[in-house]
Amino acid sequence: MTQPLLLLDVDGPLNPYAAKPHRRPDGYRTHRVKPASWVARFPRRPAEHVRPLRLWINPDHGPQLLSLPFELVWATTWMDEANTWIGPLLGLPRLPWIAWPELHREDPDGLHWKTRHLVARAAGRPFVWVDDELGPQDTEWIAAHHPGDAATFRIDPRVGLREDDFATLRAWAASLDEPDEPDEP
Ligand SMILES: [Mg+2]
Repeated sequence: MTQPLLLLDVDGPLNPYAAKPHRRPDGYRTHRVKPASWVARFPRRPAEHVRPLRLWINPDHGPQLLSLPFELVWATTWMDEANTWIGPLLGLPRLPWIAWPELHREDPDGLHWKTRHLVARAAGRPFVWVDDELGPQDTEWIAAHHPGDAATFRIDPRVGLREDDFATLRAWAASLDEPDEPDEP
């Protein structure tokens, strides 16, 4: 059976950016990075004067993600930069990533700007979307428009992915393998 997709956001689930600035969550390490897209946010400053972006990354998350019965896909504004700046900190190989046509575009129906693209990318395959910004309207829309199994998994950006979240993801994937109840004769 093809594995379900795990469509994975970075800021929030892997980088709990909303934790208190001077209270780094347990298990995380601090990294200061300057991806090109970050430097581009300060067009009037020379690159060497742009302050690096602070990241909190928990190196245990890499092996935990790789042990899941999912095909991992970056679903983040980092796009391919996640492979340069995030994956290596976690020991992840290069992963496929979603190229958004436009970031943070307002949705006419109030959906998260990623939602329609995720469903298009999944193309009917089972998937879980892990993100700190999704809402109930996204879950509903996905249920109505995605022909396969899907689950949404909202992560608190003050906390990031936790041990029991991995267990939940594993249990969800296992539930896909269970045959449907046979019909009563
Ligand atoms: Mg996020």
